[in-house]
Amino acid sequence: MNSTDGPGAGRYAPSPTGELHLGNLRTAVLAWLFARSSGRAFLLRIEDLDTGRVRPGLAERQVADLAALGIGFDGVPVVQSERTAAHEAALDALAGRTYECFCTRREIADAASAPHDEPLGYRRYPGTCRDLTEGERQTRRATRAPALRLRASAGAETTTTIHDLLHGEVTGVVDDIVLRRNDGVAAYNLAVVVDDLASGIDQVVRGDDLLASAVNQAHLTTLLGGRPPTYAHVPLAVNTAGRRLAKRDGAVTLADLAAVGVEPPQVLTRIAASLDLAGPGEIVTLEDLLPRFDPARLPREPWVIG
Ligand code: GLU
Repeated sequence: MNSTDGPGAGRYAPSPTGELHLGNLRTAVLAWLFARSSGRAFLLRIEDLDTGRVRPGLAERQVADLAALGIGFDGVPVVQSERTAAHEAALDALAGRTYECFCTRREIADAASAPHDEPLGYRRYPGTCRDLTEGERQTRRATRAPALRLRASAGAETTTTIHDLLHGEVTGVVDDIVLRRNDGVAAYNLAVVVDDLASGIDQVVRGDDLLASAVNQAHLTTLLGGRPPTYAHVPLAVNTAGRRLAKRDGAVTLADLAAVGVEPPQVLTRIAASLDLAGPGEIVTLEDLLPRFDPARLPREPWVIG
C-alpha cells in the first residue's frame, strides 16, 4: 500500500514492444527528474503483458539505452508477466463489481451510442454486456471467452478527479474498463494499478496520451484500498506533421543516432535543451539538471522532432 509519510517512489514503465525513441527517452528523463527532485526512489517496471507485440531482448536494450543517458533504477525491476498471482488476487477483491463482456473491438467501435467523455475526448464502453442475463451469458460463453469489466457505476455515472502537476485537477467519468482480457491475462489498467500499489509508487510521470486513463486508474486504486498517486502527464514528441513520433520518422532511437555520429551525451543535451534545461551544445549530466528542474516551467507543447 502507499506510504502516507515520507517520499515514496516514481517509476518508468516501458513496454518492450519497440526501441525507445527520443520521445520515450525524454519522458524517462522527466520521470527521473520528477522522482529525484522530490526525494523519491525511482523504479523500473517492464510492461510485457501484450504478448503478441513483446519482442525478446528488447527490455534489455531499453534498459541499456536508459543507462546510456545516465538513468539508473533503485531495487529490482518488476516484470509484469511474473505478477499473475497479484493480478488475480486483485480480481478476487473486485468480485461483485465486475461483469463478463463478449464484445469484439469492432463491435465496440461500431456501437453508435458510445458516450464521449468530455473534456478528455475518451470513448467509453457503450455498456452492451452490462446487463446480460445469466442465460445470455451462458449462450455467449459457448462461442467466445469473456473479458471481465469493471461495473464502474450502479445507476448514476461515477466521476473521479485526479491531480496532475501539469494539467491541474482533471475530472472524468469512470469507464467500465477491462480488468481481464478475454485471453485470461490482466488488462493494462488493472496491472498498472496493482503493480504501482505493490511498489509504493506515489508519483506517476508518463506521456499525456495516458491522461484519460488516469481517471480510471485512480478510481481503481481507491477501490483496491490505495491512495491515487500524484500524476504528471508530459507532452509527447511528434513529427513535423504533428503526429506522434515513431521509428519510421528517421534517426529517433539511440542506435539510429549513433549510426549518424550522435552519441548519448549529445542526445541528453538535445533532450535537456528541449526542456529549457541546457543550452544548445552544452554537455550535461542528469545530476546537473536536477537543480535546474522546475515542473512549473516545463514546456506544455509537444516536442516537434524535425
Ligand atoms: N507501458 C506504458 C507505455 O509504454 C506506460 C504505462 C504507464 O506509464 O502507466 O506506454
